[in-house]
Amino acid sequence: MINCQRGDYLFDLIIIGAGPAGLTSAIYALRSGLEVLLIEREIYGGKMNLTNEITNYPGHTKIAGIELSKQMFESVKSLGIKIEYDQVIRTRLNDDIKFVCTEQEEFSAVSVIIANGLKTKHLGCIGEKEFFGKGVSYCAICDGFFFKNKNVIIAGGGNTALEDAIYLSNICKKVNIIVRKNCFRAEEFLVDLIKSTENICVFFETEILEIKGDNKVNSVILENNCVQKEVEIDAVFIAIGQQPENEAFSEIKMDRFGYFDSDETCTTNIEGVFVAGDCRVKFLRQIVTATSDGATAASLAIKYLKKHKFVHSGTSVGVE
Ligand SMILES: Cc1cc2nc3c(=O)[nH]c(=O)nc-3n(C[C@H](O)[C@H](O)[C@H](O)COP(=O)(O)OP(=O)(O)OC[C@H]3O[C@@H](n4cnc5c(N)ncnc54)[C@H](O)[C@@H]3O)c2cc1C
Repeated sequence: MINCQRGDYLFDLIIIGAGPAGLTSAIYALRSGLEVLLIEREIYGGKMNLTNEITNYPGHTKIAGIELSKQMFESVKSLGIKIEYDQVIRTRLNDDIKFVCTEQEEFSAVSVIIANGLKTKHLGCIGEKEFFGKGVSYCAICDGFFFKNKNVIIAGGGNTALEDAIYLSNICKKVNIIVRKNCFRAEEFLVDLIKSTENICVFFETEILEIKGDNKVNSVILENNCVQKEVEIDAVFIAIGQQPENEAFSEIKMDRFGYFDSDETCTTNIEGVFVAGDCRVKFLRQIVTATSDGATAASLAIKYLKKHKFVHSGTSVGVE
């Protein structure tokens, strides 16, 4: 039985992250009558917002990522979600009552679901930070439109980089793909598409050393085979992958790459704390697997609350 008598407001469940995993958790938890707080640092929908067309989510032959985000959020909103737009920076999860600190406030709950996805990898070259939003972008679908008929670079050799290049080739004058290795790490049909697209050029074994400009990107310094050259360019799209961002949750066991060490049950080494979606060790990182995790994590959180005979009673809590 949980001893959680406190004057402060105590939620049944705090969900961190409003991507497909977090939003699905919210639907399940709210439908079972839990008092839920959803914390999101950017906009609801998570990585779905970066996808132009989603063609592999059941029920939709084709849907824009932004539209699917909106639809999922509408379901959550109609169930009366409380949402806080802020970044979670610290947590204390080991005790019966869990504390979640954002940049502005501290919140408490009996159970927590972490559905914080992954963070986009950075190149780490000179000028990348400085020109972010001024020609440096991590989202071709969001920002490609601003570079209509311009010359752009895509950094990366995986599926995302190639998909982005194909997308941009329909908007931009010329798309240069810069790949550090000597080959792509992408599906064959994408590689074939790249080869047959006239305004796409590929540079293997090439690195971006510096991004230059004044108040916006003007050029990059590239290095190939120890030879450096400056190339005029209007934008640099970076698509070199993603990595976990789980430092704020150091009490939870992780694998050596920093993913939460969990399985299909979404449970962790801490009772009452669950992880859902891309942030945990898993085979396939997609919307459908994130929503599946969200449902599992919420169902187990509900079970946890019931097991501990937790009963919500207004602004504080009661325990049977
Ligand atoms: C370019 C691209 C295209 C893709 N295309 C497809 C596709 O066509 N089909 C498909 O099925 N999948 C696709 N995916 C993968 C899919 O988008 C992800 O697998 C899915 O969004 C993961 O959901 P999630 O809820 O786990 O994480 P996310 O969608 O990443 O959501 C996590 C949320 O948590 C928030 N957050 C993170 N840290 C904090 C914090 N500390 N405090 C508060 N909030 C925080 C983030 O802002 C974000 O909103 C694509 C991914 C990318 C990058």
